[in-house]
Amino acid sequence: MTYETIEVENHDAVRRIRLARENARNAQSQQLLDELDDAVIKAGNDESVRVVIIGGKGDHFSAGHDLKEAQQKRADFTVEERWEYESLRYFDYCMRIWDLPKPTIAEVQGACVAGGFMVANMCDLIVCSEDAFFSDPVNHTLAAAATEVLIHPWVMGLRKAKEMLYTGGRIDAAEAHRIGMVNRVVSRDHLEQATMDLAQQIAKAPPFGMRLIKKSLNRMPDAQGMRTALSAHFDLHQLSHVTEEFRQVKEQGLAAAIQRNKSGSK
Ligand code: ZN
Repeated sequence: MTYETIEVENHDAVRRIRLARENARNAQSQQLLDELDDAVIKAGNDESVRVVIIGGKGDHFSAGHDLKEAQQKRADFTVEERWEYESLRYFDYCMRIWDLPKPTIAEVQGACVAGGFMVANMCDLIVCSEDAFFSDPVNHTLAAAATEVLIHPWVMGLRKAKEMLYTGGRIDAAEAHRIGMVNRVVSRDHLEQATMDLAQQIAKAPPFGMRLIKKSLNRMPDAQGMRTALSAHFDLHQLSHVTEEFRQVKEQGLAAAIQRNKSGSK
């Protein structure tokens, strides 16, 4: 598979995967998600890779799913078609990052919104620049019940997740750091190097031991029921795609809804 919407680099035992649709704020088209998943699987299977960085080229990590494409190709999806599309590309692809048997780091600048928030938070660690911001406004903009993978309360705490989702507002880098959702905040100029330094430090450790540590740590949220909760939310999210509220937004155009939200009130 040759990639057109992502870029992959090796730095010794660190593999850096970058979303590369910077002119579209790294909006996640079907092609981009398929390429990212392919790269994630290959990084997982490649024994020379010990740590994986997922970043984005340009000013923004990712503005989320590509809604123009969604409007053109998927506006008339049946329940069955949407279930197939979203369970594979949004849910399964995300969990593949979560379950990767080696440490992952998200490198985040600018917008980390909705589908972008989902992908970044699948990573074990997050390093972000001072200009990064995090949000999931999709109920406010689209009348959809948040993103498909409701990772939010697991990475930011229940009360903050409620605030962010209820208001549709943003969490800035400093706040994200304060509540423990991101590990490090650095200047924009220093983001790539700081993320790489952290990755190289992690890559020094014996990889099989690291794999076991990650497995054990991820069993904590599993024991708390995370997977069941995520799976249950996915079902409700699908319900929200067939509500009267969603139908009205869709008729006015998904992209127009985003624009209204940007220019309008919060
Ligand atoms: Zn959806």
